Amino acid sequence: MSVNQDRTGRRYELMSRDELTAFQNDALCQSVRQAAKSSYYAQRFRSLGLDAADIKSIEDVRKLPLTSKDDLRLSYPAGMLTVDPEQVVRMHTSSGTTGKPTAIFHTQADIDCWAELMARCLSITGATNRDVFQNMTGYGLFTGGLGLHYGAERLGMWVIPAGAGNTARQIMLIRDFGVTCIHATPSYAMHVAERMLIDGDDPKSLKIQRAFLGAEPYTEEMRLKLQDLYGFKAFNSYGLSEMNGPGVAFECEHRSGMHIWEDAFLVEIIDPETLEPVADGQTGEMVLTTLRRTAMPIVRYRTRDLTHFVQGECQCGRAHRRIARMVGRSDDMLIVRGVNVFPSQIEEVIMKHTWVGGNYVIHLTRAASLDQMTVKAEIAKSAFDGSVETIRSLVNELSRQLREQVGFSVTVEVLEPGSLPASEGKAKRVIDERG
Ligand code: ADP
Ligand code: ZN
Repeated sequence: MSVNQDRTGRRYELMSRDELTAFQNDALCQSVRQAAKSSYYAQRFRSLGLDAADIKSIEDVRKLPLTSKDDLRLSYPAGMLTVDPEQVVRMHTSSGTTGKPTAIFHTQADIDCWAELMARCLSITGATNRDVFQNMTGYGLFTGGLGLHYGAERLGMWVIPAGAGNTARQIMLIRDFGVTCIHATPSYAMHVAERMLIDGDDPKSLKIQRAFLGAEPYTEEMRLKLQDLYGFKAFNSYGLSEMNGPGVAFECEHRSGMHIWEDAFLVEIIDPETLEPVADGQTGEMVLTTLRRTAMPIVRYRTRDLTHFVQGECQCGRAHRRIARMVGRSDDMLIVRGVNVFPSQIEEVIMKHTWVGGNYVIHLTRAASLDQMTVKAEIAKSAFDGSVETIRSLVNELSRQLREQVGFSVTVEVLEPGSLPASEGKAKRVIDERG
């Protein structure tokens, strides 16, 4: 297979552990040398008395400084650019979920590499050029649209660049063009299903086979609910704009954790407090270094995403390690009455119920200096019989289970289907009004 025909980077995908390590040793040295060309890293390395030549292999990675989202903001707009502006062909920004967005630049080679990684992700799920693919996330600065788009085209899929929103049109296109694969945030996929059910339609009638779901945290329970509603197989997709966007890690057909592409990213998992590596298999913050990016290499980026390495080998035989479903971001953790709670713990409880629809919010308030948590969950269309008795028993059941999960009492409100604001992109699950 010639390099040009290797559209998904099979030569990297099929590397053994030893080959990957050898490749990483070399790529890290090059990447650090490239990073040092930016005004930001030149200054940072100088202040640490660090020379790019000090980095000789991946064993030396811990000599390098960590890069945080704030560092990216400090270097805004272009302090991390390492090439002449003529070589830049595109920029993206993060969604800005947690503040001012950060800007990321790409050369043509960077865009090609990203498309290769993305195409590789899609191909390991079993998707091929025979699939019709509808991309249901926002195009533009958000990386989900163009990222998946270029990858899917590279795989030769029939791409429908639907973008986010306009649910009625999404459903029509899926049906009329026999769409077999979709990409959406899990919350939007849920919204589409609910809309269909409210309109007396059945999501299963769409015949989607694979759904690539990501860009926001979600639980296994949410995946199961969506699979049940649509009859598709859902594949977890992870990425972040600082590391291009989607295409960083993806589930293969065995769906037992996401393979993270170690030819493109050097992965560390650290304790967010001590900044020391955690023991293999322990949960910590994932830190990533780009290995193949030219315009804007990033060294030891603190993703704030909490995960662990899945132990053992994947049945597919690929050597690229697997990361587990994210627990959430370290800054997603809520402290309620002194108790640490991740929104995913709440979702886990409520999504187990077939009577719960897909949409919910966690509302935090403070009364008489005591934190109050209210979980508002929409009832599923199929379970809604209008009876007060039904609602009352659901409220009681859920309150009890949430109390067991978090250790303090939680107020539950069960709402009519379609009454909470729907998300077209990343869902906003927490409303914190504690001041
Ligand atoms: P922002 O950081 O502003 O939200 P991005 O669009 O770059 O902008 O979002 C990347 C973040 O989205 C990741 O760092 C992670 O927290 C979250 N994310 C993306 N994919 C997943 C996934 N499959 N599971 C959990 N979280 C995800
Ligand atoms: Zn696998």
